[in-house]
Amino acid sequence: MAKIGFLGLGEMGTPMATRLLHAGHDLVVWNRSAERTVPLAQEGAAVASFPAKAATGADFVITMLATPEALEQVLFGTAGLAPALSPGQVLIDMSTVGPDEVRLVAARLPEGASLVDAPVRGSVPLAASGSLEVFVGATDENYERVRPILETFGKVRHTGGPGSGAAMKLVANLALGAAIVTLGEALSLGESLELKRDILLDALADSPIGPIVKAKRANVESGDFAPTFKLRHAAKDLRLVTEAAAARGRELKQARANRAWLDEAAERGAADLDFSAVVATISGEEHSAGRGRLNKADDEH
Ligand code: NAP
Repeated sequence: MAKIGFLGLGEMGTPMATRLLHAGHDLVVWNRSAERTVPLAQEGAAVASFPAKAATGADFVITMLATPEALEQVLFGTAGLAPALSPGQVLIDMSTVGPDEVRLVAARLPEGASLVDAPVRGSVPLAASGSLEVFVGATDENYERVRPILETFGKVRHTGGPGSGAAMKLVANLALGAAIVTLGEALSLGESLELKRDILLDALADSPIGPIVKAKRANVESGDFAPTFKLRHAAKDLRLVTEAAAARGRELKQARANRAWLDEAAERGAADLDFSAVVATISGEEHSAGRGRLNKADDEH
C-alpha cells in the first residue's frame, strides 16, 4: 500500500479518492472548498490544510482539477504543491489540461520529482465503479511505478512518453464534442423536417453516433440535464483542442464549429448542466438554472 496525496475532490475526484481509500492506501486529501473533504475524512482520510501539505511523506500525489488555470493555482500558487515535492515523488495529474500545460508544469518541478499525465475517459458512474479508461503519458519506468495505483480507477493505457496521455485525451474529447453536436444538429434538422423525436432517436441509435445517442437519450427525452460531465468542461476541452491544433498549424474547422456551439450553450446558462444540454441549445430551447429543457411547455422550474 502507498501513501498518496489527492488534490481536487470534485465530481470525479471524490469517487476516485474514495476508491483509493477503500483499496487500503494511506490517503491525504485537499480541496479548495474544504467542506468537500468531510465525507473522505469520515471514511478515514487525513485532510491537508493547504496543497503543499499533501506532499509530506507521499509516494504519489494525484491532482484532479478543473482546468489548466486551477492546476497552476494549486501547484504554484500560495502554499502550492510543486515546491514541496521531493526527489523520487511522482505527481500524477489526471485533470484534462492538454499536453502543452503538462510540459510547462514538468519543466518547473523540483529536480528529481517527476510528472505523469493520466487523464481519464468516462464519467462519474464509471469513476465510482472503477471502470474509467486512463491514458498514461510516462517513461517506461514511471509507468511501471504508477500502473498499480491507476488500475484502481479502471483500464490503464500507456499512450507513450510524458505528455502523450494529455494529448490522447484531447483527441478523445474532440470526438466526443463532434458526436454530441452532431446529435443536436441531426435532431434540429429532423424536427424541422417534421420527423418525430422518438423516430429520429431510434434511427440515430443505429447510425455512426449510436453510442452518444444511447448514452444521452434519457437526458434528451426528459429535458433533465443534471451534470455528470459539466458543459463548462466540455467547452474547455474544445478550447484546448483548437488551441493545440492552432499552435501546430492544423486547421480543425469542425472542432471550431463544435466549440462555438458549446460556448453558446455556456453563455445561455448551461455551463453547469451536463454537456448534452448543448442539444437543447441547438434546438433553440432555453435553459433554466438547474436544468435544461427541450420542451418549453414542460418547463415549470
Ligand atoms: P468538478 O466537479 O468541476 O471539480 C473541479 C475541481 O477543481 C474541484 O475540486 C474544484 O474545487 C477544483 N478547482 C477548480 N478551480 C480551482 C482553483 N482555481 N483552485 C483550486 N481548485 C480548483 O470537475 P470534475 O467533473 O471532477 O472534472 C475534473 C477534471 O476531469 C476536469 O479537467 C474534467 O474536464 C475532467 N474529466 C471530467 C469527467 C466527468 O465526466 N466529469 C470525465 C473525464 C474527465 P472546488 O470544489 O473548491 O470548486
